[in-house]
Formats: sequence, structure tokens, C-alpha cells
Amino acid sequence: MKVAVLKETFPGERRVALVPAAVGPLVKSGLEVVVESGAGLAAGSPDEAYRAAGARIVSRDEAFAADCLLAVRGCGAAGGSWPADRDRLRHGVILIGMCDPLSSAEACREAADRGATIFALELVPRITRAQSMDVLSSQANIAGYRAVLLAANTLPRILPMMTTAAGTVTPAKVLVLGAGVAGLQAIATAKRLGAQVSAYDVRPAVKEQVQSLGAKFVELPIETGAAEAAGGYAKAMGEEFYARQRELLGKVVAESDIVVCTALIPGQKAPVLVTREMVSRMKPGSVIVDMAAERGGNCEGSQPDETVVIDGVTILGPTNLPAEAPIHTSQLYAKNVATFLTHLVKCGLPDVSLDDEICRDTLVARGGELVHPKVRERAGLPPQPGPGQ
Ligand code: NAD
Repeated sequence: MKVAVLKETFPGERRVALVPAAVGPLVKSGLEVVVESGAGLAAGSPDEAYRAAGARIVSRDEAFAADCLLAVRGCGAAGGSWPADRDRLRHGVILIGMCDPLSSAEACREAADRGATIFALELVPRITRAQSMDVLSSQANIAGYRAVLLAANTLPRILPMMTTAAGTVTPAKVLVLGAGVAGLQAIATAKRLGAQVSAYDVRPAVKEQVQSLGAKFVELPIETGAAEAAGGYAKAMGEEFYARQRELLGKVVAESDIVVCTALIPGQKAPVLVTREMVSRMKPGSVIVDMAAERGGNCEGSQPDETVVIDGVTILGPTNLPAEAPIHTSQLYAKNVATFLTHLVKCGLPDVSLDDEICRDTLVARGGELVHPKVRERAGLPPQPGPGQ
């Protein structure tokens, strides 16, 4: 099977799906690997490094002629680049990448219409044996780190406490809202920079993880027992719950110099945790980094990839923090992709067995149809009949 690494064309995307170190093992396992010329350059991997690892450098046309395409961004996740990529898809080609299937089901449907088989890496189940394939974790981890650096660079003060002959500087107060993968790394990074860190999450199980990083867990007198859904994700709660949450968070937000927002509900609009009124109670010069800006935002007024200043508070809405550290995010993504591909091959790629949970959960389109139940639902299609129906 010929596997191609595509050069990303989404604006500002500097990651690459496979780094040279991940090529060797795939070639050894019997796959032919071709790499679109220049694919890894922005991630620190020139064509020569791929050649040395056993790959062949090819044009974009030749890359798209391969049996299997590896990408960081495919379908809806490729944004404005998608129509051009879609038109290049050959019938029967396999596309593996982040495809934003739950928010952009229509783009996945277009790929299905062209006869492509799509595996969306965002759908890798959060189970122990799939941990090394989990792109959401590998990328969110570094995004959480970058979010704190961004905030620290924007804040007109320093983070650590300093006692000097010229006086004592008190530590900055950092509040992290949502303590999943990105949030926990944001906590750890802010701690390393010397800030006084507190964090809040709607899932009660997180308290211990927050405390183990040396941060304070913000306890709100609000019932969160039902907030955790299957797979460890947060469940969407009613508007009454969110209103009460905002009311209780107001004081902590007002006292913070930096707020890093990471709260997400899979496949849904992000919950609003910080209102304009809460922003107006923060000290001028404070900084909010809203990592949920692309999904509607945790903070009212945040705009994707824009800097908004409200009452002297700077609100940043970065949407692609992983692309700001492309060497490491690509290294980790490549490990995820290579492990996933090897798994699919073991499961009989191209005709993977759907008895396997990892194959079943990630397969979005095959045989000209959307086959993933949730993606079908999002595309407004009826459920497919189950076996024997
Ligand atoms: P995510 O990106 O979907 O959400 C980020 C965080 O926001 C979550 O912790 C969520 O609880 C929180 N959140 C949602 N609504 C909120 C609200 N109203 N107020 C405050 N916080 C809110 O989550 P994620 O980082 O992808 O992680 C989800 C879970 O999956 C975590 O429990 C994580 O530990 C787990 N996980 C498991 C594995 C594995 O076992 N293989 C791998 C990775 C992650």
C-alpha cells in the first residue's frame, strides 16, 4: 500500500502528519511512503530528512494518487482549502486526519460522495489501548502550554513572586476554567512560571488532578454529579446551571490577572463561563485566553484569532495554538498517526473489521456513504439499518 503525507494548505497550519522519525518503522512494516515536497519544512523536517528515512518525495498530484492520504487537516478541518482537496480525492482513497466530523458533517459527506474512505482522528475513543493514537490529547497538551505563554507575554506584569532590594512583587493569579488535557497543562505551565494558580472544572473527578499539580481547586456550591458523560467528557448542562455557575465564578474571575478558558463539550457549542459583566469587574491589564473561541467561546466577546479589549481587559481567541509549536506537535501527531495506521493495517485495511472499537468509532465514510451514526445524524441522514435488519 502506498501512503502519502500531504502538505497542509490551511492558512497558518505549520504541522505535518508524519515526521521523518515515524517514516522508518512504516517503511519497515512494508508500506511505501511518499511525501509531498515541502510538507514538513515548517515543522523542521526538510525533504532530505524524509528521503533519508526511506520516503520518496513527490508532487501534490502524485501524493493524491496514493492509496492512503495522511493529513493534519482533512474535510471540514481544512477550512477553505477543502474544496480543492475534495476535488482531488480518487474513488476508493483512504483519508486519515483530523476532519471535524461532528461540526462539519457536510464536508465528510462530500468526501463520501467522491467514494473516499474517511477516518477522523478526533473520534479515537478515550480508552487505554488507544492512548497512543489520541490526537486530541497530544495536541491539546501543547496548546495548553502555549496558551499560558501567550497570556504571560501579553500581561503587563510578571508571573512569579520576586523579592528584590527595590521591593517585592506579588505573584500573578491565574485561573484555569476547564481542567481537561489542555487545562491541566495550562495549570502546570502557570505553576512553573511562578503564578498562584487555581482551576475549576464541572467534572468532580478533576479536583484531585488539579491539587496534585499544586493548584487550588475552586469549589462552587453547585450540584455537578451529573456533569460527566461516558468517556470522561463533560455533558452539556441546562442554561440554569450555567447561569448559577457564572454567578458563583464572578468573584474568582474578578480577582484573576489571567484567565485561561478551555471548557468544551464534544460536538457542541462551548459553554459561556465568563460574561461581559464579569470581564468588566477584572482589573485593567488582565488577560483572558479563550481556547474555546473557535467553538463559540467560553468568554463573551472573544473572537476567533482576534485580540479584543474590553474595559482594559485583553481577550485573545487563538484557534490553532498547536501550530505554534509545530516541531513537537508534529512529532506527537506523527506517533499518533503511525500507531493508528499500523492498527488499521492489522485490522485489514482497506476493509477494516468493525468489530474493533477503534476502527468502528473513527470510520466516518466508506463505500460512498457516511457510516458513522453521529455524523449521519449531524448531516441530517437517517440511521443505517443494523446487521440483520
Ligand atoms: P474537553 O476538551 O472536551 O473539555 C475540556 C474540559 O472542559 C473538560 O475537563 C470538561 O470537563 C471541562 N468543562 C466542560 N464544561 C465545563 C463547564 N461548564 N465548566 C467548567 N469546565 C467545563 O476535554 P478533554 O481535555 O479532551 O478531556 C476529557 C476527558 O477525557 C478528561 O477526563 C480526560 O482526562 C479524559 N481523557 C482520557 C484519555 C484516555 O483514557 N485515553 C485520554 C485523554 C483524555
